[in-house]
Amino acid sequence: MPDTVLDVQNLSAGYGGIRVLHDISLKVKKGRVVAVLGTNGAGKTSLLRALSGLIAAEQGIIRLMQREITNIPAHKLPAAGMVHVPEGRHIFGTMTIRENLELGAFTVADARTRHERIDKVFEIFPILAERQGQDAHYLSGGQQQMLAIGRGLMAAPTLLLLDEPSMGLAPIMVKEIMVIIDRLRESGITILLVEQNSRVALRHADYGYLLELGRIVREGCAAELARDDSIVRTYLGEV
Ligand code: ATP
Repeated sequence: MPDTVLDVQNLSAGYGGIRVLHDISLKVKKGRVVAVLGTNGAGKTSLLRALSGLIAAEQGIIRLMQREITNIPAHKLPAAGMVHVPEGRHIFGTMTIRENLELGAFTVADARTRHERIDKVFEIFPILAERQGQDAHYLSGGQQQMLAIGRGLMAAPTLLLLDEPSMGLAPIMVKEIMVIIDRLRESGITILLVEQNSRVALRHADYGYLLELGRIVREGCAAELARDDSIVRTYLGEV
């Protein structure tokens, strides 16, 4: 597999002619966790949407494992190796946990492969196995986030796009989700992580990009960014 999983060059995109992403270039190397940080409205969610074909790229090139995927429809990307776990989780509350997971692999015709993948997800998230027959709306916020990630894993992605997995969660749950991100990385999955919780994200990422008003204004190793006082003040809201 190539060393660079995601290669974005000069990407610009927006909504109805209003550009919100300007000339974004970034790389995500194999097996790394790369964080995209920025304040409210910086364009983090829009960036993930543009990468996964939910909004059109007006300019630029997106390559996934050397294959150009610019403006490929969103529903075709899981089969190409990229899965987007959106902000807000979007799980189906009146379906069971197991049914929610099965939806993540509905394009996989082979039942044995689907079962193997569910077993893998249950290994990562034992709580989902315990509660697999229950409707998803009974899960806590953190467990719903696990289910959303688990559903993404059902497509056996090479690259996982995670949008604000810590949003709205209690600190203990945030820790748990971040430990899971570490484990996913150890299992060989490459992750592009969008987080407003910059301090937590930098602790678990290898590399980071700072987004401001739709432009990348800084990039570097996560440890280096976390040590930079000006970044700490501006993006982490503290010194
Ligand atoms: P947040 O953490 O608040 O989600 P963000 O960094 O993810 O912030 P985006 O949600 O990507 O930022 O928003 C970037 C810009 O795009 C903002 O100016 C926002 O108003 C605009 N925007 C986002 N979604 C839409 C939309 N559906 N239609 C029009 N403009 C939008």
